[in-house]
Amino acid sequence: MNILELKYLEYLGVMPILDACAICGSKKNIITLSNRIGGYICRNCYTNEPIVEEKTMKLLRMFYYINIEKITKLELEEKTIREVDHFLSNYYDSYTGLYLKSKKFIEKLNEVG
Ligand SMILES: [Zn+2]
Repeated sequence: MNILELKYLEYLGVMPILDACAICGSKKNIITLSNRIGGYICRNCYTNEPIVEEKTMKLLRMFYYINIEKITKLELEEKTIREVDHFLSNYYDSYTGLYLKSKKFIEKLNEVG
């Protein structure tokens, strides 16, 4: 389910940045993940975001690159699953809500024009 959610975000064009810091683009010293910022955060850019477990960050990244048909068995801890789920729900709330609103707005503009 989470994998599909993540793939769908990509389809919507609001994919979180999961290979570098979402603020400065650095690939070093990544310490957490923020749904407000939309991806990883490095130590330099970190302010007060909640710290997410490294496992959770890796899992999200894996979900993104994984080929769904190739998954046979995933052994995951309950806590990691909850964190991933939590991130995705919040991310969906903040980004797809906006996306849908702006889409509606553009449709309105088209009607007028
Ligand atoms: Zn940074």
